[in-house]
Amino acid sequence: MNKYWLRVALDVPLPGLFDYYHTQPVVIGVRVLVRFGPRQLIGMVIETPNEPQFQADQVKAIEMVLDDMKPMSAQWLDLAQFAANYYQRPLGEVVMPVLPAPLRRPAAYTGKRADGGPVSRLRKRKKTAGKKIKAKEAPILNAEQLQAIDTIRTQSGAARYLLYGITGSGKTETYMQVALSVLAQGKQVLFMVPEINLTPQFEQTLRQRLVNAEGQPYQVAVMHSALADGKRLEAWLNTAEGSAHVLLGTRMAIFAAIPNLGLIIVDEEHDNSYKQQDGLRYSARDLAVWRAQQMQIPVVLGSATPSLESWHHVQKGHYQLLVLSQRAKRVPLPTIQLIDTRRAQLDQGWSPQLLEALEQTLSAGKQSLIFINRRGYAPVLHCGSCGWLSQCPHCSAYAVLHKGARHYMQCHHCGIQSPVAKHCPDCGNVDLKPLGKGTQRVEEYLSARFPQARILRIDADTTRRKGSAESLFAQVHAGEVDILVGTQMVSKGHDFSHLALVGVLNADTMLFAQDFRAPERLFAQLMQVSGRAGRHYDDARVLIQTDYPDQAVYQALLKQDYELFARHELEQRETVGLPPYAYLALITAESKTIDQALAFLNTAKQWAQHPQMPGADRVFLYDAVPLRIVRVANIERAQLLIESQHRMALQIFLKTWGAQLDELAKHYRCKFTLEVDPQDI
Ligand code: ADP
Ligand code: ZN
Ligand code: ZN
Repeated sequence: MNKYWLRVALDVPLPGLFDYYHTQPVVIGVRVLVRFGPRQLIGMVIETPNEPQFQADQVKAIEMVLDDMKPMSAQWLDLAQFAANYYQRPLGEVVMPVLPAPLRRPAAYTGKRADGGPVSRLRKRKKTAGKKIKAKEAPILNAEQLQAIDTIRTQSGAARYLLYGITGSGKTETYMQVALSVLAQGKQVLFMVPEINLTPQFEQTLRQRLVNAEGQPYQVAVMHSALADGKRLEAWLNTAEGSAHVLLGTRMAIFAAIPNLGLIIVDEEHDNSYKQQDGLRYSARDLAVWRAQQMQIPVVLGSATPSLESWHHVQKGHYQLLVLSQRAKRVPLPTIQLIDTRRAQLDQGWSPQLLEALEQTLSAGKQSLIFINRRGYAPVLHCGSCGWLSQCPHCSAYAVLHKGARHYMQCHHCGIQSPVAKHCPDCGNVDLKPLGKGTQRVEEYLSARFPQARILRIDADTTRRKGSAESLFAQVHAGEVDILVGTQMVSKGHDFSHLALVGVLNADTMLFAQDFRAPERLFAQLMQVSGRAGRHYDDARVLIQTDYPDQAVYQALLKQDYELFARHELEQRETVGLPPYAYLALITAESKTIDQALAFLNTAKQWAQHPQMPGADRVFLYDAVPLRIVRVANIERAQLLIESQHRMALQIFLKTWGAQLDELAKHYRCKFTLEVDPQDI
């Protein structure tokens, strides 16, 4: 019997690949079913060596070769290997979790009703005919759009572009034209958006606009985490086999197999949602740039408020800048005004200017949006006589008051719900008062103030059910809403044509967050939410209530001047040596007690200073500190920031040092995560 040795990547929290053999040759990139301890697992063949790594007589045979799908290509495996190295995770934690669930679930292949596996089951199902869509004509492009399109079209090979265009400047139209020319060459296009909520709108645009010379629509596949397993598998296969020409997706789409990829577009490239916050903590935007380089194809990053990293790349000549400086429909940008809340006569936090503007907009029959980045009724319940606050028993945070059919308190960190206290648990006072406000309280206030208005709230609570977000947004688009109240869910990408007024409450809470990116986020978010207004009307207004109108962020916002903001912010970053002028990694440790977490990090820091540690002389480790919200669900957390001027040095250092931390963490009974290029600090 011949033994063909295999090295297999498995999604288990152990480094390295695992030895198996098969009695027939197996090609690299194929999935195999194996036994791993007591479990069955599906893994991917990464190497076919002449000899196993371990004692040959101990190596087990695989149980099944899963060849229902083409093996993953060498290029795809290179991408996965890069991501594994760069983000310091085992390869198995990359190549397996990014596959649709049915492709990595042993039961899908072994059960009684496996029936040849999920892929062949899908193939047996009748193809459903796609919806008929009426194609839409392109508008006549303006000079800036034409120039951007021309620049991208006339260059071949790898090229990186930053399409910097104000909201409504016709970025989407520009993407469509570039995509059309790539599709006409028979290549595939990857189109990435930050949010699941944005996919229906873009899907429609892509289907309407991407039509070939014979009037045939190009096939669009959609991929995001809210899809049912079967749908996601179908999108994966259609893309991998080339029957889908365009893949529209959220961050996970960067790991799709796209054999004939010719262009990557990353819309709203500054958006934090491109960063995965657990498991493999990758940036889909950064991987998009890497993948484009690998495939020698163009990548277009688009934004009205580019990330400072991307802006810096433009300044250093790494990315080509393409500018759209005018609104495409010739509707002027809304005017932005700051309302100094220290000088206004507030009614429950509402300034007379904002209330008057709401009144006017309402009587003119136009739409308003009140933006407040906090859901629930009030962020805390308070006893006026003894000072008691509704602290969550499990977290160093307050439980938030929610109203509705049933009133309840909920901690937004651990998720625990509890009844609303009828009296103060400390002094018995029955008159407990909600402090501050969230979307529900805003909605309540507005309903009382404007009883004739149709008010709609969109936040994580009103959109929990599948499909509910879509139908709520449809009401807004249909003009069935006078005042929309929403969190950041409403701020991104949506094209509300009837919107004439945006009011912003509580923006200041983001101003003094300790994260050095807080001003950047606040600026992007407020520009974004402002951009929702005035797509239709030329007298649209944005009113921002603040106690700190003199802050640089607000001043730049007043002028709607991203470049001014970027210059100011980059100067600050350079002075203190923060990204994009330095590279960061972050270790977060979790333990029953903060002392254990800190002790682990402090020892880890000492180890890092060992003279023989590779790269150690070129990295700087900050002191370990407790997180601002130190306790969540009774787990206490601390973090340690690592900084370097040299990306390679940081990588080399993390490789060696990181490998030693598992043992150390066990000793201190800690869990930890290591994050490269962290976004939240
Ligand atoms: P962005 O993506 O930059 O926010 P869009 O591409 O969505 O902007 O364009 C905003 C609106 O302007 C859309 O309704 C789009 O159809 C329209 N539009 C785009 N380009 C043009 C153009 N050259 N002339 C007229 N309208 C245009
Ligand atoms: Zn009390
Ligand atoms: Zn809690």
